[in-house]
Amino acid sequence: MAGVLIYSDKLNLALELITAGKAINDEVTAVAINDEELAKGLANAGVKVLSVANEAVNVADTAAVASVIKELAGGVKTVLLASNRRGKELAGRLAQKLGAGCLTDVSSFTVNGDKIECQRNALGGATVATQVIVSDKGVIAIAPKSFAPAGEGSGSIELVSLDVSSKVKVLEVKAKSADAVDIEAAEVLVVAGQGVNSQDDLTDIEALAKKLGGEVACTKPVATDKKWLSEERVVGLSGKLCKPELAVLLGVSGQVQFTVGIRDAKTIVSVNTDENASMNQLSDYVLTADLHEVVKDLNSKL
Ligand SMILES: Cc1cc2nc3c(=O)[nH]c(=O)nc-3n(C[C@H](O)[C@H](O)[C@H](O)COP(=O)(O)OP(=O)(O)OC[C@H]3O[C@@H](n4cnc5c(N)ncnc54)[C@H](O)[C@@H]3O)c2cc1C
Repeated sequence: MAGVLIYSDKLNLALELITAGKAINDEVTAVAINDEELAKGLANAGVKVLSVANEAVNVADTAAVASVIKELAGGVKTVLLASNRRGKELAGRLAQKLGAGCLTDVSSFTVNGDKIECQRNALGGATVATQVIVSDKGVIAIAPKSFAPAGEGSGSIELVSLDVSSKVKVLEVKAKSADAVDIEAAEVLVVAGQGVNSQDDLTDIEALAKKLGGEVACTKPVATDKKWLSEERVVGLSGKLCKPELAVLLGVSGQVQFTVGIRDAKTIVSVNTDENASMNQLSDYVLTADLHEVVKDLNSKL
């Protein structure tokens, strides 16, 4: 098989990978594992889908998924995965099995002859590096929302049966907690930083996010040190890379590990008592004010 092979267990991300794949080679083949709906969704985007049904493979078990994709990646030079948490784990395992080079968190690329020049954050997000895989095969994990989802088309589904086993035994799969928010998908984010006085203030901040039709997100210390919000809501290098239409940042200083996760937002509003906060330099609108007053005012006016 020539061309590009793409895989994500999430349809929205797999559709983005199809667009990315077509920028490399017109011949894009997708993989779906134990998921007929995913296979149909991908075929409706105009690609050939290899649909694997194998009870022994759990998509949460990246070792088993890597074995499946290795079997299907025969003549393929490039495999594209999503650079979400599971995709990044899979990328390393798959690259090791294929003897391929591997790049994760790739936000864009340029095809130059037979090389794919990938742009990705480096030095903790302080810069964007261009890197090229020099081995024959490459596994590239693409950051969510870096490419538009593929439009409709007429593809096909080929059922594939594979004898794959894993050394990992999945004992239990638990549904995510009730706070299974997807801040990467949100069009509006209201981000709570350490400038927020207390956990009680989050009630007003949540009300504001709701009025704006968005979600509450936070900086890392708000989740990991103060434990006011779940780690699912952290924006930045150790959290999520978000590209909302609007980001309202409340009491966020703007350290690079945070800004890397929000700098691609279309409009950034920073509310900070410190007029020299670094976040202000990256923002479209700056309010030098107490965030608690601003939240109260906005809630009463909206
Ligand atoms: C390896 C590594 C990875 C990291 N990954 C991440 C990551 O993914 N995400 C992340 O967020 N951080 C990350 N960090 C931490 C990061 O370096 C910063 O420490 C963190 O982002 C700071 O959070 P903050 O802006 O909420 O807090 P602070 O830096 O303490 O800023 C608080 C801001 O609130 C303002 N303020 C105070 N009171 C008010 C008020 N009443 N009204 C308005 N403004 C007010 C202050 O002027 C200040 O600017 C990482 C660090 C390391 C070393």
